[in-house]
Amino acid sequence: MDQIIIQDMSIYAKHGVYMEENILGQQFLVSVYMDVDLSKAGQTDNLEHTIDYGKVCHFVTKYMQEHTFKLIESAAEHLAEELLMQYRQVKKIRIKVKKPWAPIGLPIKNVCVSVDRIRHTVYLSLGSNLGDRRAYVQKGVEELNALSSCRLCEVSDFIETEPYGSVEQDNFINCVLRLETVLNPQQLLEKLHEIEDRSGRTREIHWGPRTLDLDILFYDHEVVNTPQLTIPHIDMQNRYFVLEPLRKIAPWYRHPLFHQTVQQMYEKLMEEHK
Ligand code: ATP
Ligand code: CA
Ligand code: CA
Repeated sequence: MDQIIIQDMSIYAKHGVYMEENILGQQFLVSVYMDVDLSKAGQTDNLEHTIDYGKVCHFVTKYMQEHTFKLIESAAEHLAEELLMQYRQVKKIRIKVKKPWAPIGLPIKNVCVSVDRIRHTVYLSLGSNLGDRRAYVQKGVEELNALSSCRLCEVSDFIETEPYGSVEQDNFINCVLRLETVLNPQQLLEKLHEIEDRSGRTREIHWGPRTLDLDILFYDHEVVNTPQLTIPHIDMQNRYFVLEPLRKIAPWYRHPLFHQTVQQMYEKLMEEHK
């Protein structure tokens, strides 16, 4: 992959565990490695098709100076997240933060942390069948969009569907959406639970009425099987309220285990229920 590399930006800032470091400050050296497809910029010689590295340098310097972290691990983590979410063209990023004056009391050249982060594409399903159902789903979309670690890309239309399963309850409002995130699947699930909890969701009956339900359908093309998570969503192929909106925004997306596209899964489901 092509890369843009910015090496050892020298920045005076106040990160550190000790109070003196937070007051007096010291020098940090920050490097940024961005995986970007540079072929179009190379062919057209046009700045619009690449990343303005001058802007990146100014952003990193300002960010390092306007925040105070105890750990350079945190500084690197936050910088990686900010830059990945800001620059869509960046597929992968490595941030190195060096601390040449680390208060160790021994002659070292520097201490360095290096973090690698990737942009992931995720599809989620949202549903509500309690209270102001549209407002709950809409609020869910907005809260996802407000997370600094996520970027909302596309939201389907909202549809009204009959409840799934055998519990007697009101109709649902459903939608699906695509977002990009730096979170891993477990971290994403925790964020989803926080948003569900803020909507006042209680968990009494499985598949029962709820103010907001947020499920992970796809996470890139990864297969995840842990006690907390099954990805792709284990039952999505049987759910009209998932496949109908999903085929509108991602008909070509291929299920990593069934090897069928969303459109094919939708057609199969329709065929079974004729
Ligand atoms: P269903 O998963 O059949 O749609 P549900 O959404 O009503 O049922 P919940 O009570 O919301 O089920 O979730 C129970 C648990 O399911 C969650 O706490 C989570 O740990 C787990 N889970 C497993 N896979 C997923 C996934 N892909 N997305 C969201 N939660 C999942
Ligand atoms: Ca669900
Ligand atoms: Ca759920």
